[in-house]
Amino acid sequence: MESADGDDGAASWEPAVGALALCFEHLHDDLLQKRLRDGAFRGECSFCPDGARDRVTVVRVSRLAEEILAALSDGDPGPSADVPVEWAHVERAQGDAHKAPPDPAQAVAEACDAVLDDDVLKAVKDCIDQKNWYGDPVEFVPRSSTMRDSWASFCRTVVERDLDLPGSDPAPGSDRDKLDSLMGRIAGIIREAHLIRTVEPGEKIWRGRMRADDVLPHYRARDIGSAPPGRAAENRMSRAGVPLFYGSADSDTAVVEISARDDRPFAAVAAFEVTRPIRVVDLVDIPKAPSRFDREAAARRDSLVFLRDFARDLSRPVFYDGRPHRDYRPTQYVTDYFRESPGLRVEGIRFRSAHNAGVNYALFVEVTQCLASDAADGHGTLRLIAGSERVEPRSHVARRSAVTPAV
Ligand SMILES: [Zn+2]
Repeated sequence: MESADGDDGAASWEPAVGALALCFEHLHDDLLQKRLRDGAFRGECSFCPDGARDRVTVVRVSRLAEEILAALSDGDPGPSADVPVEWAHVERAQGDAHKAPPDPAQAVAEACDAVLDDDVLKAVKDCIDQKNWYGDPVEFVPRSSTMRDSWASFCRTVVERDLDLPGSDPAPGSDRDKLDSLMGRIAGIIREAHLIRTVEPGEKIWRGRMRADDVLPHYRARDIGSAPPGRAAENRMSRAGVPLFYGSADSDTAVVEISARDDRPFAAVAAFEVTRPIRVVDLVDIPKAPSRFDREAAARRDSLVFLRDFARDLSRPVFYDGRPHRDYRPTQYVTDYFRESPGLRVEGIRFRSAHNAGVNYALFVEVTQCLASDAADGHGTLRLIAGSERVEPRSHVARRSAVTPAV
C-alpha cells in the first residue's frame, strides 16, 4: 500500500490513519458503498487479514470520514431533496436547542455503529481526531433537522417550555411555530407514505371493562361508549375532559389492554360496529426509514423515525396513578394536531398494542355517536352489536406487572 510516512507537509495534510485504505467488504450500507465508488482505486486493504492483501478496489479512510460527516451535516441536499421551502427559515433559526459544540468523532460513532466494522470505525474516529489535533479541523455542522425533528427533542420542547396545545397563528420563530412547522412535515409524510386508512362500515371494534365476577353485565352503548366530556380522564392521547373512544380490533387485544391496568379477575367486552367510513392515521405498519446516507431522503427519514418513535410511545406501558402526567403532553399534542389538522381530516389513530402486537384504535368519537344495537342505519358512528358481549378471565399476558398501557 501507499505509505503516509513520507508526508512532506503539503497543503492538504493527511494523517497517517486517513491514508489507510479499506476494501468495500467492511462497509455495510449499500448507499454508502455507492457514494464511495467515486474515490475508489486499486490498492491493498489495511483491514483485511494479511493473507488477503491483494490489490482490490479500496477507498481511503479520510475519504470515508468525509462522506460520513457529509451525510450527518447540513449542506446541499441535492436537486431532488424533499425539503419543503417553508421550513428553511426554521433551519436557520435553530441553534439554541443544543448548546454543546458538536463532536464529529462522537457523531460518527453513534451513526455508524451498525454500518462499519469496529476497527474501521475506530480508524475513522482517529482520522477525524488527528485532523482536529493537528490544526486541520474537519468542517462539521450537524444536520440541524436530525436533532430538532426527533421525537425526543419534540418531547423536551413541549414539556420543558410548558407548551400546551397546537395553537392558532403562533409568532414567527416561536417554539410553537417551529413545532407547527415540524407537524406540518409529519402530516406531509403521513399523506405521502399512505398512512391514512379508512375504517369501513361493518368493521368491529372491541371495548370493555374489568369485573369482579363473570356475570354478563348487559352493557348498554352509553355504558361502554366514550366517557362523557365531563368525566373523561386524562390519558396518553387526550387531556382531561376530552372524550376519546379507545378500542381494539379483536376481543383478545381488548382484554389484554384493559386487564393491564386493573387487577380485577374478569374482563367483560363487547363489539361495536362502525356505521360510516372513518378516516384514521394508520401507524400499525410504518415503512422502514431510508438509509442515513441517502441525503436526498433525509427529511423523509427524519419524519418516519419521528412517527415510529411516537407510535412506540403510544403503546408504551406506563404506571397508572390517576394523576396528571406532564409526559403525556407530547403524545397529547400530536394527537390534538391530528384531530385539528384540515390537511389530514382524520377522526382517530390506529396503532399497535405493546402487549400482544394486536391493533388498537383511538377514535375522536363522543358518547352521543356510540349508539344502541337497535339504532337505524345511517346514524351515529359506532353501533353496539347485539349478543357480542362476553366475559373472560383476565389476561395472563398483562398480569406480569403493575405497569399499564396508555389506554
Ligand atoms: Zn478489506
